[in-house]
Amino acid sequence: MTEKIGNEMYDLMKRLYPICRSITGDGVRQTLKIIKKLIPIEIKEVPTGKKVFDWTIPKEWNIKDAYIKDLKGKKIVDFKKSNLHVLNYSKPINKKMNLIELKKHLFTLPEHPDWIPYLTSYYKENWGFCITQKQFEKLKEDTYEVFIDSELKDGHLTYGEYLIKGKSKDEVLISTYLCHPSLCNDNLSGVVLTTFLAKYLKNKKLNFSYRFLFIPETIGAITWLNINEKNLSKIKHGLVVTCVGDSGNLTYKKTRRGNAEIDKIVEKILFESENQFTICDFFPSGSDERQYCSAGFNLPVGSLMRTPYGRFPEYHTSADDLKFVKPKYLADTYEKYIEIFNILENNGTYLNQNPKCEPQLGKRGLYRMIGAQKTQEKNDAFVSELAMLWVLNMSDGKNSLLDIAIKSNLSFKEIKIAADALLKNKLLR
Ligand SMILES: [Zn+2]
Repeated sequence: MTEKIGNEMYDLMKRLYPICRSITGDGVRQTLKIIKKLIPIEIKEVPTGKKVFDWTIPKEWNIKDAYIKDLKGKKIVDFKKSNLHVLNYSKPINKKMNLIELKKHLFTLPEHPDWIPYLTSYYKENWGFCITQKQFEKLKEDTYEVFIDSELKDGHLTYGEYLIKGKSKDEVLISTYLCHPSLCNDNLSGVVLTTFLAKYLKNKKLNFSYRFLFIPETIGAITWLNINEKNLSKIKHGLVVTCVGDSGNLTYKKTRRGNAEIDKIVEKILFESENQFTICDFFPSGSDERQYCSAGFNLPVGSLMRTPYGRFPEYHTSADDLKFVKPKYLADTYEKYIEIFNILENNGTYLNQNPKCEPQLGKRGLYRMIGAQKTQEKNDAFVSELAMLWVLNMSDGKNSLLDIAIKSNLSFKEIKIAADALLKNKLLR
């Protein structure tokens, strides 16, 4: 099942890969339009010049073409071959120049001579080309024709938002960014995973409401927080989805609070999994959790990723491509997010209705032969006696099922099955 979803996520990534995205512009719109075919997101536009806290929505950037030609008219750098070749947000230029002048606007990655670096200049008007070190070394004294057919003008910042309503108005925020051009793990992996998580929850009966955001990183989160400041108290749990498709182990970056329910849930799931993982405290660099967890909001938003941004050499280079991300890793991360939703939806705090000594489980048919316990362990329907004892003992109105699962070292599922059996027998309320 998840193998199929892994392939579907990967196919969506292949479709989105060629699009030249940025923090504004048609690349974002095109991306959202494709996502909209899978989940009914609302596409929102915020005008250039709008003040959002200490920031201002920038001019909208669009690009059609760009190249560098040598004197013979041969294209030696071509945007159509890779959109990473253009410094993202480059202003237009159409000029002949010598090599010395051109070099001031060329960027390379000498330590990886075959890779194109990904660079941006959103808030300082500039132009430039990102090329491989090998391309750079081939450049001779010559006159070059430099052409960038881009446009920087008043327009909009575009983002996508999708709310799945549950029984409660309390919300779970799932946020990802969609501002990088052809880059897979750092960017598209988050976009496709978030899309498929929304698709999974779309037709489910849910307790929580789930809000999905597809925004340009930083400025998008700041804009969204600014527009929705009055509704932020609804957000009870949140996760930023980034770098979720590489072969590395899972990494959980905790919320700024450090002890939010979402922190406990993700930690429990990672401890239960058979793979290695890393858990780290919040730090103020990274993705949009920086804004959600800024001092003035301090929302309970963490980030579950695989290898974090900046910690893999392919990060922000042309090597973060379709080969770097694999369907099976997307599927593995997807499974973990689904497990998180499962705990969120099923967690609860109960009160033991027979707290003075243990209730007699046998007369209620809840007590099985102890010898049978081991052999029946794998059976989902089996109610573990130990789990029942834990739930009964800890259900004093203060401990949630998750707390009990953590304390007992039993799986959340086992604790939940025990609690359901006890509820059915009116031993819990
Ligand atoms: Zn990035």
